[in-house]
Amino acid sequence: MMTRIAILGSTGSIGVNTLSVLSGMKDRFKVAALSADKNVELLSKQAAIFKPRIACVGTEMLSRKVSDAISRKTRIVSGVEGLKEIVSSPDVDLVVFAISGSACLIPLVEAIKKRKRIALANKESLVSAGVIIMKLAKKNNVRIIPVDSEHSAIFQCIDGKDRAVSKIYLTGSGGPLLNVDRRRFDRLTKNFILNHPKWKMGRKISVDSATMMNKGLEIIEAGSLFGLPQDRIEVLIHPEAIVHSMVEFSDSAILAQLGTPDMRLPIQYALTYPDRGPSPVERIDFSKIKNLSFDKPDAKKFPSLRLARQAARDGGVRPAVLCAADEEAVRNFLNGTIKFSGITKVIEKVLSRHDNINKREISLDDVLASQVWAREEARSICCH
Ligand code: NDP
Repeated sequence: MMTRIAILGSTGSIGVNTLSVLSGMKDRFKVAALSADKNVELLSKQAAIFKPRIACVGTEMLSRKVSDAISRKTRIVSGVEGLKEIVSSPDVDLVVFAISGSACLIPLVEAIKKRKRIALANKESLVSAGVIIMKLAKKNNVRIIPVDSEHSAIFQCIDGKDRAVSKIYLTGSGGPLLNVDRRRFDRLTKNFILNHPKWKMGRKISVDSATMMNKGLEIIEAGSLFGLPQDRIEVLIHPEAIVHSMVEFSDSAILAQLGTPDMRLPIQYALTYPDRGPSPVERIDFSKIKNLSFDKPDAKKFPSLRLARQAARDGGVRPAVLCAADEEAVRNFLNGTIKFSGITKVIEKVLSRHDNINKREISLDDVLASQVWAREEARSICCH
């Protein structure tokens, strides 16, 4: 049986890597749907090769543009409604969530309700609404397979033995600023900040890696995925990026997943789970690895980790506020409105102005409303 796949965010870094993985497995998978926000040109090229039944773009205006370039056999839809239509389609079995930012949240919820198989790269949705998503997934008997390399590593190490987990070691290469004095941060070029030493990724996650908010978001993401409080998730700086994360079990044994830093590996595993198959990813040659080092992160240099841990402890909609404030601050950094060091300052200010919702169970509407508030707040701080 062919598995029919929808890739939401096919024109991004994860999306393009997913299509590269799928190119090598045409006997097993069929691309049923693709989506982009604005990059109509790349989406059209992808559609010409993979011939999806549906393609989605950000706006209706763009959908008119794309329909001129795409075969009539592909139906063009747009916006959130278009993404919802894709994940609800009976022609789709598995959805890869590779959209960046919170825009993934609503289609993800819809896909879980429709009981689709889910390969989740997007982290912002799980950070913002982890409790809601995991509860919904349980109710609908949907398993969320992580694509994020650290979470894929943890998922592979746990391998169903959830109850015996005592601790997670979440590794991170340290990003492009690991060895840069923080007094130099605001003098660095945007290109330097976007140029991660180990991974080639989209702009938002690259900036998050430089501030280390990416690791902060990953702590919250791991807490939701694996049902652990954040004080049982330790971050380790591992510049070689070979050990993608580790799990310590109740008997003190530690399992790790190792591999070349290449996103095609966790993507393929999420698609073929629980099977493994051949892959073009470069194999590790241990004779060439002279050192595997681990260190604690510098909390003073990278305050994002403290902000994320506090948001996780606060619970409620606080992680959603953190996430939305980060998105807006990063956007403002990328368009030149604020300096690099301003990113965490903006997030901290937004959090300090926020009254958390004080109720046992938050709803999706609570999350969405808090994100709107946090974005407006962050925008006004950036502009003053
Ligand atoms: P990119 O910025 O490279 O790609 C984002 C994709 O989402 C593009 O297809 C983009 O379309 C689309 N998109 C952006 N905004 C919207 C929107 N509002 N509505 C609909 N579509 C939208 O991101 P990455 O591939 O780097 O990351 C995707 C997600 O995966 C993120 O959440 C990231 O944290 C996570 N992740 C990424 C990793 C990586 O190696 N890149 C590793 C682990 C996790 P368009 O091209 O038209 O703008």
